[in-house]
Amino acid sequence: MTQPSSLSLKDNDNALIKAAIAAMASAYAPYSGFSVGAAIRDEHGQIHTGVNVENAAYPQGSCAEAGAIAAMIMAGGRQITAISVAGKGDLLCTPCGGCRQRIREFAALKTPIFIADENGFRQAFTLDTLLPHSFGPDHLEK
Ligand SMILES: [Zn+2]
Repeated sequence: MTQPSSLSLKDNDNALIKAAIAAMASAYAPYSGFSVGAAIRDEHGQIHTGVNVENAAYPQGSCAEAGAIAAMIMAGGRQITAISVAGKGDLLCTPCGGCRQRIREFAALKTPIFIADENGFRQAFTLDTLLPHSFGPDHLEK
């Protein structure tokens, strides 16, 4: 998939990507060694970061996106206007299936998701391309 022109990077997108890359260094990943950083920009323009936090009881670990969402909620943010996820490797470090749904709770379908590695930006997606035909809060509105 190529990067749509509507997703050309802006200065604040670059800041978001840099925040995700910087967060990678704080990950707790003693088992996989796969550090992931996530950064969210909320509706107030604030950036919230998170990292993956592994656990000896493997299923109890949590993803970087989940940590960033929790930080956003704690700070009073309720809308994801952009998100970046950073992880090493040749393959793109896109959000896992569960995190795509977590993002969906707080993001519009066209919200940009910027994927990066330790060296910088790799590729942009929108939420609806990563989670098509999704179920979200609008399904439950009265
Ligand atoms: Zn995840």
